[in-house]
Amino acid sequence: MARLKILTYPDPRLKEVSQKVADFGPRLNKLAEDMLETMYDAHGIGLAAPQVGVLDCFLVIDTRPRDEKGRRYNYDEMTEMEQQVSQPLFIANPRVIGGEGQQTFDEGCLSVPGFFETVQRFNVVEIEGEDLKGQTFRFKTDGLLAVCIQHEMDHLEGKLFIDRISFLKSSRIKSQIKKSGYPKKEETIDAPSASTRKSKSEKSKQ
Ligand code: ZN
Repeated sequence: MARLKILTYPDPRLKEVSQKVADFGPRLNKLAEDMLETMYDAHGIGLAAPQVGVLDCFLVIDTRPRDEKGRRYNYDEMTEMEQQVSQPLFIANPRVIGGEGQQTFDEGCLSVPGFFETVQRFNVVEIEGEDLKGQTFRFKTDGLLAVCIQHEMDHLEGKLFIDRISFLKSSRIKSQIKKSGYPKKEETIDAPSASTRKSKSEKSKQ
């Protein structure tokens, strides 16, 4: 496994639209392993291939909440629907088959490190995609997992969470990054408390 470099805004590659995955061979398996390692290393809960400069419609996700020491998973903090989905999750060519309701969440992004803003998404999503072997699978979920999948799917369209907030808020973040770069520690930017889970690990980096 190898750790990959995560691209950050305003890298132009983050604005590209990704290509459908057609080759489910060893290259995809290697990408999956490397992306997972990269995501865990960055304490992220989701990572899309374009964030590491690969313009493939491919995501890795692991939203399972860990305990304080980052070891055991606190499954009781997950919704029943989230618990039904086995993680880490690898999805190629994800498609939203259905979406219901709305939820808001304070999203962060490994490509916009240190910044968090409230974004509105579907509460429940039904997703179809291919696994690492190219087999099509389908599942329905809600909670943080639903937020994360929708956030990651945006990356495949060349969209960041800062493109989903008000023009004013987005401009403020962009000009701050342009002026002084990224904060050294994400704690330097405060984020309001999140709506879905109450633990400290709440702020999601995706
Ligand atoms: Zn992201």
